[in-house]
Amino acid sequence: MKIRTKEDYIKSLKEQKTLIYYNGKKVEDRTTHPAFIPHINSAAKTYELALMPEHEDLMTATSSITGHKINRFTHIHSSVEDLIKKVQMLRLIAHETASCFQRCVGFDAVNALYMTTFEMDEKHGTKYFQRLLKYLERLQDENFMLVGGMTDPKGDRSKRPSQQADPDLYTRIVEKREDGVLITGAKAHQTGSVNSHEIMIMPTQAMAEGDEAYAIVAAIPLDAPGITMIFGRQTNEERKFECGIDAGNCEFGMVGGEALVVFEDVFVPWERVFMCGEAEFCGPLVERFATLHRQNYGGCKGGVSDVVIGASALAAQYQGTLGASHIKDKLVEMLHLAETVYAGSVACSALGSKTRSGAYYPDPLLANCTKHNITRVIYEISRLAHDIGGGILATLPFDSDLRSPEIGKYVEKYMKGVEGVSTETRMKILRLLENMTGGTALIESMHGAGSPQSQRVMYQRLGKLGEKMKIAKKIAKIEN
Ligand code: SF4
Ligand code: FE
Repeated sequence: MKIRTKEDYIKSLKEQKTLIYYNGKKVEDRTTHPAFIPHINSAAKTYELALMPEHEDLMTATSSITGHKINRFTHIHSSVEDLIKKVQMLRLIAHETASCFQRCVGFDAVNALYMTTFEMDEKHGTKYFQRLLKYLERLQDENFMLVGGMTDPKGDRSKRPSQQADPDLYTRIVEKREDGVLITGAKAHQTGSVNSHEIMIMPTQAMAEGDEAYAIVAAIPLDAPGITMIFGRQTNEERKFECGIDAGNCEFGMVGGEALVVFEDVFVPWERVFMCGEAEFCGPLVERFATLHRQNYGGCKGGVSDVVIGASALAAQYQGTLGASHIKDKLVEMLHLAETVYAGSVACSALGSKTRSGAYYPDPLLANCTKHNITRVIYEISRLAHDIGGGILATLPFDSDLRSPEIGKYVEKYMKGVEGVSTETRMKILRLLENMTGGTALIESMHGAGSPQSQRVMYQRLGKLGEKMKIAKKIAKIEN
């Protein structure tokens, strides 16, 4: 079906029967499960905003393949302007959801594949690029939600995929047939998978000789026989079930709604396979996907930070500290940090360049810096939010205490801040801050799009240390 509205999106999820487990139990209907509704609401914003005339410029694009107007999340970047608009779009949506909206992963996967399959075909005379174009036409036309599946469980990290005691710890081809391939393995931390329609599996790292069975890229419907999704536990997730003040942000997800996606002899026909054994292209594909996803973080986390900053200022206002000079200083510091990470995303986009395929690619060194900054800055912004919010962030009574006929009067009286602001209002903003600055949300900022060490490795590769030594020698007038 073609998906345009939030209602279309939910209906399509209802119709597609996926196998999902939550807390040890099978989920009958993912669209009515309280753990998934906030994540569905977040992803639905990528559909809803695209229909609003005031957001059309950021949320939609003209397809370079068909010339049709499409949702930007299905677009292949055709200019530097497209790269910049992507970042602006992410900040915009983050203001609406205050959480991850998940759809960037599939977006980045198809862009990375567009460049890489083009070069694979150039080298090997394969037909992956043409296949991908057909797939993209359908993706753009139907506007379904694609999750990008990169991270394998990895087992013993000191061993290569083919050296693992259990060969399935990296997702692999178990059989090649005339009509397609059979896939076994798993993808971990899959953002948005429980409310997506398809998954694009990709290799998790560069592969060496002997690892060809792990060099697989394929688009698989999430209701394919043999796929099981196991939803991850999040901090305070039961509070979403109550959907009261304690949830903080009840309507939208805390992070991306991550799941472990297991594949057991899953059949994929050839027209959905975009790499099969070309191990030397795993490294370039992973690097491109990582760059495209790291490009995003100053946009989405910059936008999420804006909400944290606003909530911190409100918390201060509600308790009468907004005028204090040290609070103003802290808010200024938070603003500086949020704009700095956003500047990184805009900069790596502005310095993007055209690849041989025609698609545009952000500057990889700056994209890595942007994501690496996020792994620190979000903690600092959260630390400042906790500093401003005060100890009450950790000791606030329950929503039900406020509503209790016996003790509500005490909560009302003693949790009150300034005149003119109700206790309930104050509690709402404190819970929003708690929700956004703790547990799962912080860890996602650290490890989403790759752990900090994976960005450090890129500095060694792309940082041109040798050239910098030459520059210094020249200035110091050292001959050799
Ligand atoms: Fe998109 Fe950010 Fe979520 Fe990644 S963490 S999927 S970039 S919103
Ligand atoms: Fe993420």
